[in-house]
Amino acid sequence: MKRKIAVLPGDGIGREVTRGAVEILEAVGQQFGHDFEFHFGEIGGSAIDRTGSPLPDETVEMCKSSDAVLLGAVGGPKWDQQPLHLRPERGLLKIRKDLHLYANLRPISYYSSLSESSPLKKEIIEGVDLLIVRELTGGLYFGKPSERTTLDGKEAVVDTLFYQKSEIKRIIELAFKLASTRRNKVTSVDKANVLESSRMWRETAEEVAKNYPEVELEHMLVDNAAMQLIRNPRQFDVMVTENMFGDILSDEASVLTGSLGMLPSASVSVDGCNLYEPIHGSAPDIAGKNVANPMGMILSAASMLRLSFGLEKEADAVEKAVQKVLDAGLRTGDLANSPIRGVSTSQMIAEIKAAL
Ligand code: ATP
Ligand code: MG
Repeated sequence: MKRKIAVLPGDGIGREVTRGAVEILEAVGQQFGHDFEFHFGEIGGSAIDRTGSPLPDETVEMCKSSDAVLLGAVGGPKWDQQPLHLRPERGLLKIRKDLHLYANLRPISYYSSLSESSPLKKEIIEGVDLLIVRELTGGLYFGKPSERTTLDGKEAVVDTLFYQKSEIKRIIELAFKLASTRRNKVTSVDKANVLESSRMWRETAEEVAKNYPEVELEHMLVDNAAMQLIRNPRQFDVMVTENMFGDILSDEASVLTGSLGMLPSASVSVDGCNLYEPIHGSAPDIAGKNVANPMGMILSAASMLRLSFGLEKEADAVEKAVQKVLDAGLRTGDLANSPIRGVSTSQMIAEIKAAL
């Protein structure tokens, strides 16, 4: 079976790390006998330079006719002075919308060989393996009205937290489905002591839970969840939460196991064409220097193999290869707190390929 992968390298180190992910996928294809077909497209600043738009229609069409999308990163100082509609980040928001990406998944796993690069004690983070499921297309970030206004002639402002019940249900269902492939626990994070939306969230979680008797459901208030993530992160398996809470908690969780450069993410589409990208940005300060850590991108590709294509053992192989080079002491600059051997982006990619 041929699998069509849309590849959008984007800007800055996005281009360097994406090359790595494609190389690894090609190697996986050869090794396991899969036919991956790569189609390259532009997004972000490089798309603006070539086409005048941060997300050309050709790119959207190409993605829609693919089985999955791999994205590097967008942005850079070159485009910071542009008007808003000509910013690289616009391309990112638009592709999330155009591809109907309703859920963002951010797995956080512990790497024993990297325990020194976390600000937290090893006893706390040892064995952490959690997955944050963040709602991505609703809530406070999209509700209308969102504007400056006046009340009794005085300055005021309004943002709106709006969800349809169906939007809450589909994200919670996804969380339960994922938990049933992991350790069978869902922590639903809300602020039900204050917000009406959170009350509906909680009710919906209870309803969905009835269809998953093997999965334990726990509710946690978001303020407590923020604290528990730092005090005892091992208690979590799958955490599911609305857009803004998820935005904040997923950044908090990313410091548990070390560098920005290590962490993958997946965004799940209503229509089946998911998008995979590392959580880091285009890192203009190190772009073009061949020093970026390609692991977040390569692990994103692994997550594509598992989630979009159901290629479990292939995904495992990639993750094990990353683990192996870490265990061997290889580090890019961002991880080199106590470097055993400092390596470049291209060396790291070659080592992971060799470890496959
Ligand atoms: P964005 O707004 O796109 O998220 P940002 O400026 O907030 O961008 P990043 O681009 O992720 O964040 O960069 C933050 C810093 O982290 C960079 O200056 C860079 O030094 C470091 N960094 C990010 N990703 C990597 C990576 N893959 N390898 C090494 N260092 C990285
Ligand atoms: Mg950022």
